[in-house]
Amino acid sequence: MSHDDPRREAADIARALRRNIERERAAGRGELLASSMAAARGRGVPTPGGDPSAAATTAERAAVTAPAPEERESAATRSRGSASIVRDEAPAADVSLFGEEPARGSPHGFAYELPSHFEPLHPVDLAERAHIWERALPVLDGVAAEARACRACGLCDTRTNAVPGVGSARSGIVFVGEAPGADEDAQGEPFVGRAGQLLTKIIAGMDERRLIPGVKLDRETVYICNVLKCRPPENRNPLPHEVEACSPYVRRQLDALKPRIICCLGKFAAELLVGVTGTIASMRGKIYRYQGAKLIVTYHPAACLRNPGYKQPVWEDMQMLAREYMND
Ligand code: URA
Repeated sequence: MSHDDPRREAADIARALRRNIERERAAGRGELLASSMAAARGRGVPTPGGDPSAAATTAERAAVTAPAPEERESAATRSRGSASIVRDEAPAADVSLFGEEPARGSPHGFAYELPSHFEPLHPVDLAERAHIWERALPVLDGVAAEARACRACGLCDTRTNAVPGVGSARSGIVFVGEAPGADEDAQGEPFVGRAGQLLTKIIAGMDERRLIPGVKLDRETVYICNVLKCRPPENRNPLPHEVEACSPYVRRQLDALKPRIICCLGKFAAELLVGVTGTIASMRGKIYRYQGAKLIVTYHPAACLRNPGYKQPVWEDMQMLAREYMND
């Protein structure tokens, strides 16, 4: 960046800082950034969004907050097509959504540009949801047919049935798990084994306690699917190339379902749809965005079976889900 005009240089630096902040927030490092910003303000360092003419006169200050090249690359990779944090970690007023392909050749060397606001939330109105469901059905049927014929990652060689998903768009709530297990593989339906029975109970509990008044919650009114549509042998963890090959299916399902809120069950769904790596403990309790949906993260029901101490936090997460479903 070379300028003869110091005002233009200052404006460029401010824009670069602003993009950096948006990316850091979306990568889940908003808190860190908030404290650096507060410290910078205290030192009289100009902050993005402030008066550009008051910005630093050299590129040095942009370099202070700009990530190292390898960090920049991993943040871009992690964040592709995904969600960003809107609560708890956002230090200032505006929030930003990932959801666009990287814009190449940014004059600031950043991998992509971010839109400056979120899409409107998908509706809760039940009549509108019924229309969404009508339109989604052929898309979901198409995804299911493709998944059944898919040979992209090799899991087709060991699975019995592909497991595309079950339920509807009627409530606007979607649960995304990891991958089918033995029972799901045998029946072609997600979450029907022990972990699935616990998920079904959780959904029934939400309905019994009327967490969302006026909205019936069961396996037919929510949608349940997985990141992988085929069972990994011996229920091993999904491999990166399997997630990469299969993830377009879940993304197409979400595009069609237009959920009000997505609940990621466990690490694989969370990392794919939030776009950052981290523990469930670090990701839960926050509201992310995925296009026009809010998104939360909670423990996988299988983890609750292994460690019953997770059941209470999961229930708290379901209460948060219900609150967020009802709020704009
Ligand atoms: N675990 C999952 O993640 N998905 C299922 O469908 C079953 C168990």
